[in-house]
Amino acid sequence: MIATVMNPIPSAAATDVVLIEDAPSRRAAAGAADWRAAAIAEYEQSREAGAATRRAALVERLRELTGRVVPPERVIVQEGRRALAWVDGVQFRLEGTELTIARGCVHCGLGEMTSPPMRTRAELGYALIGWEPRCTQCPAEDPPEW
Ligand SMILES: [Zn+2]
Repeated sequence: MIATVMNPIPSAAATDVVLIEDAPSRRAAAGAADWRAAAIAEYEQSREAGAATRRAALVERLRELTGRVVPPERVIVQEGRRALAWVDGVQFRLEGTELTIARGCVHCGLGEMTSPPMRTRAELGYALIGWEPRCTQCPAEDPPEW
């Protein structure tokens, strides 16, 4: 009884299955290419739609905060999620719902640091003048002038 149970009939059956399904599996390979192409096309379509949504969102936030209307084609979308646009030389960034600006170090002018997120004009004003971006190698305070 035990010998019957351990008889390797299943592997013989598996070989038959492979032979029987040889032709259908070739059809499946063609189908596989189709589903890949379809999935990739859908991904690219959704990425484009996502980028368009990001552009529109930043344009709207800039219109609210600055009164300027930036043409959507002037908005750069990075990695499908970060939207960048410039208004009078100020770089605005929208990531998720967080709108920030990028500024260089107040001491040496180098680097590009991201402001605290802003929702109101006052917060934008703070980011423009109150916030003092500083790179790590620059001193926290300028030495007093004598
Ligand atoms: Zn610096």
